[in-house]
Amino acid sequence: MISEGARKNVRRGFGGDMRKRLEGTSVGFWSVLAWTGNGYECRCRCGTERVVSAQSLLRRDSLSCGCASSDLRREALAKRKEKELAKFREKFE
Ligand SMILES: [Zn+2]
Repeated sequence: MISEGARKNVRRGFGGDMRKRLEGTSVGFWSVLAWTGNGYECRCRCGTERVVSAQSLLRRDSLSCGCASSDLRREALAKRKEKELAKFREKFE
C-alpha cells in the first residue's frame, strides 16, 4: 500500500526525469542545451536561442525558432508560382 505522499514523490521524480532527459539532444532544428527550471534553453540552427517548454519539445510542437516554417512557406509559395507559370505557358505558347 503506497501512501498519498509517496505517490506524489514518485510522480515528481518522474517529472524531473522527463525534463532532464532532453538535454544534449536535438528536436527539429533545436539543439537542446540545458534545463532552466521552466523550459529548455535551446539553440536553433540559425543561432537564435530561446527557452522552449518541455511539452513543446516532447510533442514536437516547436521544431525551430520559426525560421524553418518561413523556409517551408517560401518553398511552398515558389512551387505554387512555378505551377501557375507552367499553366500560363501552356495556354499562351
Ligand atoms: Zn531559427
